Amino acid sequence: MNEQTGPAAGEKDGRAEALARLPALLLPWYDENKRSLPWRESKDPYRVWVSEIMLQQTRVEAAKEHYRRFLAELPTVADLAACDEKKLFKLWEGLGYYSRARNLQRAARIVAEGGFPRTAQEWKKLPGVGDYTAGAIASIAFEQPSPAVDGNVIRVLARLLGDGREQETLKGAFAAELAPAYPPARRGDFTQSLMELGATVCTPAAPQCLACPLFSLCKTRSDALPRRKEKAARRRLQKTLFLFFDGARLALYRRTAGVLKGTYAFFSAERAMNGEEAAAFLQGAGLHRFALGAPAAHTHVFSHLEWEMTAYPVFTQEDASALRLPAGESADAPFSALLYAEKEAVVREFSLPSAYRWCLALLP
Ligand code: SF4
Repeated sequence: MNEQTGPAAGEKDGRAEALARLPALLLPWYDENKRSLPWRESKDPYRVWVSEIMLQQTRVEAAKEHYRRFLAELPTVADLAACDEKKLFKLWEGLGYYSRARNLQRAARIVAEGGFPRTAQEWKKLPGVGDYTAGAIASIAFEQPSPAVDGNVIRVLARLLGDGREQETLKGAFAAELAPAYPPARRGDFTQSLMELGATVCTPAAPQCLACPLFSLCKTRSDALPRRKEKAARRRLQKTLFLFFDGARLALYRRTAGVLKGTYAFFSAERAMNGEEAAAFLQGAGLHRFALGAPAAHTHVFSHLEWEMTAYPVFTQEDASALRLPAGESADAPFSALLYAEKEAVVREFSLPSAYRWCLALLP
Protein backbone atom coordinates (compact mmCIF):
# COMPACT_ATOMS: atom_id res chain seq x y z
CA MET A 1 0.00 0.00 0.00
CA ASN A 2 1.16 3.53 -0.77
CA GLU A 3 1.55 5.38 2.53
CA GLN A 4 0.38 8.66 1.00
CA THR A 5 -2.50 7.68 -1.24
CA GLY A 6 -3.89 4.60 0.50
CA PRO A 7 -4.80 1.12 -0.68
CA ALA A 8 -4.78 0.07 -4.36
CA ALA A 9 -7.96 -1.37 -5.95
CA GLY A 10 -7.20 -5.07 -5.26
CA GLU A 11 -6.20 -4.30 -1.70
CA LYS A 12 -9.49 -2.50 -1.18
CA ASP A 13 -11.45 -5.70 -1.71
CA GLY A 14 -9.34 -7.49 0.90
CA ARG A 15 -9.92 -4.69 3.36
CA ALA A 16 -13.67 -4.69 2.74
CA GLU A 17 -13.76 -8.44 3.33
CA ALA A 18 -11.83 -8.12 6.58
CA LEU A 19 -14.12 -5.33 7.79
CA ALA A 20 -17.24 -7.32 6.81
CA ARG A 21 -16.13 -10.05 9.22
CA LEU A 22 -15.88 -7.70 12.19
CA PRO A 23 -19.50 -7.88 13.50
CA ALA A 24 -19.43 -11.69 13.73
CA LEU A 25 -16.13 -11.60 15.63
CA LEU A 26 -16.73 -8.57 17.81
CA LEU A 27 -20.36 -8.84 18.94
CA PRO A 28 -20.00 -12.17 20.84
CA TRP A 29 -16.75 -10.88 22.37
CA TYR A 30 -18.52 -7.67 23.40
CA ASP A 31 -21.38 -9.58 25.04
CA GLU A 32 -18.87 -11.51 27.16
CA ASN A 33 -16.40 -8.77 27.97
CA LYS A 34 -18.01 -5.32 27.96
CA ARG A 35 -17.46 -3.18 31.02
CA SER A 36 -20.46 -2.22 33.04
CA LEU A 37 -20.64 1.57 32.61
CA PRO A 38 -23.45 3.85 33.77
CA TRP A 39 -24.21 5.15 30.25
CA ARG A 40 -24.65 1.63 28.94
CA GLU A 41 -27.75 1.17 31.11
CA SER A 42 -29.93 3.12 28.69
CA LYS A 43 -30.16 3.92 24.99
CA ASP A 44 -32.10 7.07 25.67
CA PRO A 45 -30.66 9.62 23.19
CA TYR A 46 -30.26 12.35 25.82
CA ARG A 47 -28.24 10.04 28.07
CA VAL A 48 -26.12 8.70 25.22
CA TRP A 49 -25.47 12.24 24.03
CA VAL A 50 -24.42 13.56 27.46
CA SER A 51 -22.06 10.62 27.94
CA GLU A 52 -20.47 11.04 24.51
CA ILE A 53 -19.85 14.74 25.11
CA MET A 54 -18.37 14.04 28.56
CA LEU A 55 -16.14 11.32 27.16
CA GLN A 56 -14.75 13.51 24.37
CA GLN A 57 -11.84 14.67 26.49
CA THR A 58 -12.31 12.89 29.78
CA ARG A 59 -11.26 9.44 30.93
CA VAL A 60 -14.01 6.89 31.57
CA GLU A 61 -13.28 6.65 35.29
CA ALA A 62 -13.40 10.43 35.77
CA ALA A 63 -16.60 10.74 33.72
CA LYS A 64 -18.63 8.12 35.63
CA GLU A 65 -19.41 10.12 38.76
CA HIS A 66 -19.96 13.35 36.84
CA TYR A 67 -22.38 11.56 34.54
CA ARG A 68 -24.48 10.26 37.44
CA ARG A 69 -24.53 13.64 39.19
CA PHE A 70 -25.33 15.52 35.96
CA LEU A 71 -28.30 13.29 35.13
CA ALA A 72 -29.59 13.27 38.69
CA GLU A 73 -29.72 17.09 38.55
CA LEU A 74 -30.74 17.44 34.89
CA PRO A 75 -32.65 14.27 33.99
CA THR A 76 -34.18 15.54 30.72
CA VAL A 77 -33.12 17.65 27.78
CA ALA A 78 -35.69 20.26 28.87
CA ASP A 79 -34.00 20.49 32.29
CA LEU A 80 -30.63 21.05 30.61
CA ALA A 81 -32.09 23.67 28.26
CA ALA A 82 -33.53 25.60 31.23
CA CYS A 83 -30.56 25.25 33.61
CA ASP A 84 -28.72 28.47 34.58
CA GLU A 85 -25.09 28.64 33.50
CA LYS A 86 -23.66 28.83 37.00
CA LYS A 87 -25.29 25.54 37.96
CA LEU A 88 -24.34 23.95 34.64
CA PHE A 89 -20.68 24.87 35.06
CA LYS A 90 -20.71 23.64 38.64
CA LEU A 91 -21.98 20.28 37.41
CA TRP A 92 -19.22 20.28 34.78
CA GLU A 93 -16.49 21.21 37.25
CA GLY A 94 -13.56 18.79 37.07
CA LEU A 95 -14.31 17.69 33.50
CA GLY A 96 -12.48 20.62 31.90
CA TYR A 97 -13.06 22.01 28.40
CA TYR A 98 -16.08 23.99 29.53
CA SER A 99 -16.97 24.96 25.97
CA ARG A 100 -18.41 21.42 25.77
CA ALA A 101 -20.94 22.26 28.47
CA ARG A 102 -21.86 25.53 26.80
CA ASN A 103 -22.36 23.84 23.42
CA LEU A 104 -24.31 21.01 25.01
CA GLN A 105 -26.75 23.50 26.46
CA ARG A 106 -27.06 25.47 23.21
CA ALA A 107 -27.82 22.22 21.42
CA ALA A 108 -30.26 21.14 24.17
CA ARG A 109 -32.27 24.33 23.57
CA ILE A 110 -32.56 23.44 19.89
CA VAL A 111 -33.53 19.82 20.65
CA ALA A 112 -36.03 20.84 23.35
CA GLU A 113 -37.85 22.84 20.65
CA GLY A 114 -37.53 20.58 17.63
CA GLY A 115 -37.02 17.05 18.98
CA PHE A 116 -34.05 14.68 18.75
CA PRO A 117 -32.32 14.20 15.40
CA ARG A 118 -31.98 10.57 14.23
CA THR A 119 -29.23 10.40 11.62
CA ALA A 120 -25.57 11.31 12.03
CA GLN A 121 -25.98 14.06 9.40
CA GLU A 122 -28.76 15.66 11.45
CA TRP A 123 -26.85 15.34 14.73
CA LYS A 124 -23.83 17.07 13.18
CA LYS A 125 -25.86 20.24 12.70
CA LEU A 126 -25.96 20.71 16.50
CA PRO A 127 -23.28 22.76 18.29
CA GLY A 128 -20.48 20.65 19.74
CA VAL A 129 -21.36 17.51 17.75
CA GLY A 130 -18.65 16.41 15.31
CA ASP A 131 -18.34 13.36 13.06
CA TYR A 132 -17.40 10.95 15.81
CA THR A 133 -20.05 12.04 18.31
CA ALA A 134 -22.76 12.16 15.64
CA GLY A 135 -21.90 8.62 14.51
CA ALA A 136 -21.82 7.32 18.06
CA ILE A 137 -25.20 8.80 19.08
CA ALA A 138 -26.97 7.89 15.82
CA SER A 139 -25.79 4.28 15.98
CA ILE A 140 -26.17 3.71 19.73
CA ALA A 141 -29.47 5.52 20.30
CA PHE A 142 -31.09 5.09 16.86
CA GLU A 143 -29.45 1.96 15.39
CA GLN A 144 -28.19 3.87 12.35
CA PRO A 145 -25.32 2.33 10.32
CA SER A 146 -23.08 5.28 11.15
CA PRO A 147 -19.46 4.63 12.17
CA ALA A 148 -17.89 6.54 15.06
CA VAL A 149 -14.17 6.70 14.41
CA ASP A 150 -12.15 8.01 17.34
CA GLY A 151 -8.54 7.37 18.38
CA ASN A 152 -9.44 3.93 19.76
CA VAL A 153 -11.12 2.82 16.55
CA ILE A 154 -8.36 4.25 14.34
CA ARG A 155 -5.82 2.27 16.36
CA VAL A 156 -7.76 -1.00 16.03
CA LEU A 157 -8.38 -0.63 12.30
CA ALA A 158 -4.87 0.62 11.42
CA ARG A 159 -3.43 -2.46 13.13
CA LEU A 160 -6.06 -4.83 11.81
CA LEU A 161 -5.53 -3.71 8.20
CA GLY A 162 -1.81 -3.02 8.55
CA ASP A 163 -2.44 0.54 7.37
CA GLY A 164 0.75 2.59 7.73
CA ARG A 165 -0.69 5.95 6.76
CA GLU A 166 -0.45 8.68 9.38
CA GLN A 167 -3.12 8.56 12.05
CA GLU A 168 -4.44 12.01 11.16
CA THR A 169 -5.30 10.96 7.61
CA LEU A 170 -7.07 7.75 8.57
CA LYS A 171 -10.19 9.08 10.25
CA GLY A 172 -12.27 9.94 7.19
CA ALA A 173 -10.98 6.96 5.23
CA PHE A 174 -11.95 4.50 7.96
CA ALA A 175 -15.40 6.01 8.44
CA ALA A 176 -16.16 5.50 4.73
CA GLU A 177 -14.80 1.95 4.69
CA LEU A 178 -16.50 0.89 7.88
CA ALA A 179 -20.03 2.05 7.00
CA PRO A 180 -20.80 -0.88 4.60
CA ALA A 181 -19.61 -3.36 7.26
CA TYR A 182 -22.42 -2.38 9.66
CA PRO A 183 -24.65 -5.36 10.46
CA PRO A 184 -28.44 -5.26 9.88
CA ALA A 185 -29.08 -5.38 13.64
CA ARG A 186 -27.18 -4.43 16.83
CA ARG A 187 -25.51 -1.50 15.12
CA GLY A 188 -25.07 0.46 18.34
CA ASP A 189 -23.44 -2.55 19.96
CA PHE A 190 -21.14 -2.90 16.97
CA THR A 191 -20.00 0.70 17.35
CA GLN A 192 -19.43 0.15 21.06
CA SER A 193 -17.64 -3.16 20.53
CA LEU A 194 -14.99 -1.48 18.38
CA MET A 195 -14.51 1.30 20.92
CA GLU A 196 -14.37 -1.24 23.74
CA LEU A 197 -11.76 -3.36 22.00
CA GLY A 198 -9.58 -0.27 21.51
CA ALA A 199 -10.04 0.82 25.11
CA THR A 200 -9.41 -2.52 26.79
CA VAL A 201 -7.51 -4.93 24.48
CA CYS A 202 -5.97 -3.10 21.53
CA THR A 203 -4.48 -0.43 23.81
CA PRO A 204 -1.90 2.14 22.67
CA ALA A 205 1.01 0.34 24.34
CA ALA A 206 1.13 -3.42 24.99
CA PRO A 207 -2.02 -4.61 23.16
CA GLN A 208 -3.23 -7.99 24.41
CA CYS A 209 -3.13 -9.68 21.02
CA LEU A 210 -3.43 -13.22 22.37
CA ALA A 211 -6.74 -12.35 24.01
CA CYS A 212 -8.04 -10.44 20.98
CA PRO A 213 -11.04 -11.71 18.99
CA LEU A 214 -9.46 -10.23 15.83
CA PHE A 215 -6.13 -12.05 16.20
CA SER A 216 -6.65 -14.37 13.23
CA LEU A 217 -7.55 -11.44 10.98
CA CYS A 218 -5.00 -8.90 12.20
CA LYS A 219 -2.05 -7.89 10.03
CA THR A 220 -0.02 -6.18 12.75
CA ARG A 221 -0.46 -8.00 16.09
CA SER A 222 1.65 -5.41 17.91
CA ASP A 223 1.73 -1.73 18.84
CA ALA A 224 3.75 -0.83 15.69
CA LEU A 225 0.81 1.12 14.22
CA PRO A 226 -0.77 3.63 13.85
CA ARG A 227 1.96 5.93 12.61
CA ARG A 228 2.00 9.23 14.40
CA LYS A 229 2.92 12.70 13.27
CA GLU A 230 5.41 14.55 15.47
CA LYS A 231 3.34 16.72 17.77
CA ALA A 232 3.95 20.44 17.92
CA ALA A 233 5.37 21.42 21.30
CA ARG A 234 2.85 22.87 23.75
CA ARG A 235 3.11 26.59 24.33
CA ARG A 236 4.26 27.40 27.87
CA LEU A 237 3.06 30.42 29.77
CA GLN A 238 4.25 31.57 33.18
CA LYS A 239 1.76 33.08 35.58
CA THR A 240 1.71 34.46 39.09
CA LEU A 241 -1.63 34.05 40.84
CA PHE A 242 -2.78 36.25 43.73
CA LEU A 243 -5.49 35.01 46.08
CA PHE A 244 -6.76 38.14 47.82
CA PHE A 245 -8.34 37.02 51.10
CA ASP A 246 -9.80 39.22 53.84
CA GLY A 247 -10.18 36.41 56.38
CA ALA A 248 -13.61 35.32 55.10
CA ARG A 249 -13.96 36.41 51.49
CA LEU A 250 -11.89 35.67 48.40
CA ALA A 251 -11.47 37.79 45.26
CA LEU A 252 -12.05 36.07 41.94
CA TYR A 253 -13.31 36.92 38.47
CA ARG A 254 -15.20 35.23 35.70
CA ARG A 255 -13.16 34.45 32.58
CA THR A 256 -14.84 35.93 29.53
CA ALA A 257 -12.50 34.69 26.80
CA GLY A 258 -9.89 32.10 25.92
CA VAL A 259 -9.45 28.73 27.60
CA LEU A 260 -11.82 28.10 30.51
CA LYS A 261 -14.17 30.85 29.32
CA GLY A 262 -17.15 31.18 31.65
CA THR A 263 -15.43 29.68 34.70
CA TYR A 264 -14.02 31.53 37.70
CA ALA A 265 -10.36 32.30 38.27
CA PHE A 266 -7.96 34.09 40.60
CA PHE A 267 -6.16 37.23 39.55
CA SER A 268 -3.09 36.29 37.55
CA ALA A 269 -0.18 38.35 36.26
CA GLU A 270 1.43 37.03 33.12
CA ARG A 271 4.97 36.40 34.34
CA ALA A 272 6.81 34.47 37.03
CA MET A 273 7.62 36.37 40.27
CA ASN A 274 9.56 35.50 43.39
CA GLY A 275 8.27 36.73 46.76
CA GLU A 276 10.02 40.10 46.59
CA GLU A 277 8.83 40.74 43.05
CA ALA A 278 5.29 39.73 43.99
CA ALA A 279 5.26 42.19 46.92
CA ALA A 280 6.67 44.95 44.69
CA PHE A 281 4.02 44.19 42.04
CA LEU A 282 1.23 44.57 44.59
CA GLN A 283 2.68 47.80 46.00
CA GLY A 284 3.00 49.12 42.44
CA ALA A 285 -0.67 48.25 41.93
CA GLY A 286 -1.63 50.39 44.94
CA LEU A 287 -1.99 47.83 47.75
CA HIS A 288 -0.68 49.25 51.03
CA ARG A 289 -1.27 46.91 53.97
CA PHE A 290 -0.97 43.23 53.22
CA ALA A 291 0.91 40.07 54.10
CA LEU A 292 1.96 37.47 51.56
CA GLY A 293 1.47 33.85 52.62
CA ALA A 294 3.69 30.95 51.62
CA PRO A 295 3.43 30.34 47.85
CA ALA A 296 2.91 27.08 45.98
CA ALA A 297 3.69 26.12 42.39
CA HIS A 298 1.72 24.00 39.96
CA THR A 299 1.79 23.28 36.23
CA HIS A 300 -1.53 22.82 34.50
CA VAL A 301 -1.44 21.08 31.13
CA PHE A 302 -4.05 21.78 28.45
CA SER A 303 -3.96 19.99 25.10
CA HIS A 304 -2.03 22.80 23.38
CA LEU A 305 -0.81 24.88 26.28
CA GLU A 306 0.91 24.66 29.66
CA TRP A 307 0.52 27.13 32.50
CA GLU A 308 3.42 27.21 34.93
CA MET A 309 1.91 28.92 37.93
CA THR A 310 3.04 30.22 41.31
CA ALA A 311 0.24 31.28 43.64
CA TYR A 312 0.51 33.66 46.60
CA PRO A 313 -2.20 34.11 49.20
CA VAL A 314 -2.53 37.84 49.91
CA PHE A 315 -4.00 38.64 53.35
CA THR A 316 -5.44 42.12 53.22
CA GLN A 317 -8.52 44.15 54.18
CA GLU A 318 -8.08 46.47 51.20
CA ASP A 319 -10.29 46.15 48.12
CA ALA A 320 -8.31 44.39 45.37
CA SER A 321 -10.82 45.41 42.70
CA ALA A 322 -9.69 49.04 43.15
CA LEU A 323 -6.04 48.27 42.26
CA ARG A 324 -4.43 49.28 38.96
CA LEU A 325 -2.10 47.19 36.87
CA PRO A 326 1.44 48.67 37.14
CA ALA A 327 2.89 50.03 33.89
CA GLY A 328 4.55 47.40 31.73
CA GLU A 329 2.74 44.48 33.38
CA SER A 330 0.04 42.31 31.87
CA ALA A 331 -2.64 40.16 33.46
CA ASP A 332 -5.38 37.75 32.39
CA ALA A 333 -8.05 40.25 33.49
CA PRO A 334 -8.05 43.74 35.06
CA PHE A 335 -8.26 44.13 38.85
CA SER A 336 -11.62 45.81 38.33
CA ALA A 337 -13.08 42.44 37.18
CA LEU A 338 -12.57 41.01 40.67
CA LEU A 339 -15.57 40.31 42.87
CA TYR A 340 -15.63 38.99 46.40
CA ALA A 341 -17.34 35.84 47.64
CA GLU A 342 -17.27 33.88 50.89
CA LYS A 343 -14.62 31.18 50.72
CA GLU A 344 -17.18 28.46 51.54
CA ALA A 345 -19.47 29.66 48.74
CA VAL A 346 -16.56 29.59 46.28
CA VAL A 347 -15.84 25.98 47.21
CA ARG A 348 -19.51 24.95 47.02
CA GLU A 349 -21.11 27.00 44.28
CA PHE A 350 -18.54 28.46 41.88
CA SER A 351 -17.17 26.56 38.90
CA LEU A 352 -13.51 26.82 39.78
CA PRO A 353 -11.65 24.59 37.33
CA SER A 354 -8.82 22.34 38.46
CA ALA A 355 -6.34 24.80 36.90
CA TYR A 356 -7.18 27.09 39.85
CA ARG A 357 -8.78 24.89 42.48
CA TRP A 358 -5.44 23.63 43.84
CA CYS A 359 -4.74 27.15 45.17
CA LEU A 360 -7.49 26.85 47.79
CA ALA A 361 -5.15 24.70 49.90
CA LEU A 362 -3.05 27.82 50.52
CA LEU A 363 -5.81 29.48 52.52
CA PRO A 364 -6.57 28.86 56.19
S1 SF4 B 1 -4.43 -8.67 17.35
FE1 SF4 B 1 -3.43 -7.16 18.62
S2 SF4 B 1 -2.94 -5.45 17.28
FE2 SF4 B 1 -4.42 -6.74 16.22
S3 SF4 B 1 -6.39 -5.82 16.70
FE3 SF4 B 1 -6.05 -7.42 18.21
S4 SF4 B 1 -5.03 -6.41 19.96
FE4 SF4 B 1 -4.92 -5.03 18.19
